[in-house]
Amino acid sequence: METGRFAPSPSGRMHLGNLFCSLLAWLSAKSTGGRVVLRIEDLDPLRCPRAFADEIEQDLAWLGLAWDEGGSLGGPHGPYYQQERTALYAGACDMLAARGLTYPCFCSRAQLHAASAPHRADGTPVYPGTCRALTRAEQAAKARVRPPALRLAVPDERVEFVDGHLGRYAEDLAKDCGDFILRRSDGVHAYQLAVVLDDAAMGVTQVVRGADLLSSTPRQLYLYRLLGLPAPRFYHLPLLTDAKGRRLSKRDGDVSLETLRQRYAPEQVVGRLAFLAGLQGEPAPRTAKSLLDGFAWEKVPKEDIRIPEGLF
Ligand code: GLU
Repeated sequence: METGRFAPSPSGRMHLGNLFCSLLAWLSAKSTGGRVVLRIEDLDPLRCPRAFADEIEQDLAWLGLAWDEGGSLGGPHGPYYQQERTALYAGACDMLAARGLTYPCFCSRAQLHAASAPHRADGTPVYPGTCRALTRAEQAAKARVRPPALRLAVPDERVEFVDGHLGRYAEDLAKDCGDFILRRSDGVHAYQLAVVLDDAAMGVTQVVRGADLLSSTPRQLYLYRLLGLPAPRFYHLPLLTDAKGRRLSKRDGDVSLETLRQRYAPEQVVGRLAFLAGLQGEPAPRTAKSLLDGFAWEKVPKEDIRIPEGLF
């Protein structure tokens, strides 16, 4: 019996990719007789107003994807809004700092992007370690000008894991990831840290999410190890693309939930998503519940999934 989760970032309305991911996370956990937790990843208070989180709950409910705890429903592992969990994140930062594993970083975003450093699999630059060797006096002088971010110093070590869907994946922490941020200079904690602490605290045993986060997983697994927490099993999903092969994003207004809800009944959306997921041979209407029996990860494609013209 697995515990899965929905972990939406309420910086806007969900798009088809989010729905696809939510449906598969739900089917994966529920098909084992398990549970689903809803955690609202609203770390950045300016980008994630509560109204958006409420809208996401309504959209998930409309699709027929009920969760067992979390969000406004509450439950034994709350609070379920990351904005209300900052004490947990701050405590972990303090603990890692006390172990000498972190350092303050004063680099601006512009400086980071200007550096001709190698880039990570997700396209962001690998931090070149500029602030790693600052003396205490240098740190104090810089802190008078600019509040620092907090970075985790990573060792020159390979992290390898077997994704439940995509198979073996590995990265060299120093070369492919670099020292990464735990807390931004404006005090907002980083996704990488929060997601690890929260999934562990909420008893999550399986994480189903888009393949755009595959390259975050080695960093997260390293944090699980440092913090002495049990890691969940990861299942990364192929990303949806439009008929031209472009990956969907929140900017694609034509596939927003608002449009979908005007055009279709929930079963029509679930049925089309199940078709894209390889769970049925045609886009016939289905309820999420009716898909539980036939669910198997082997049926789900591993490559990006092109949405045929006119399907939605
Ligand atoms: N909050 C992230 C998103 O909406 C998902 C993070 C995760 O699943 O680990 O993209």
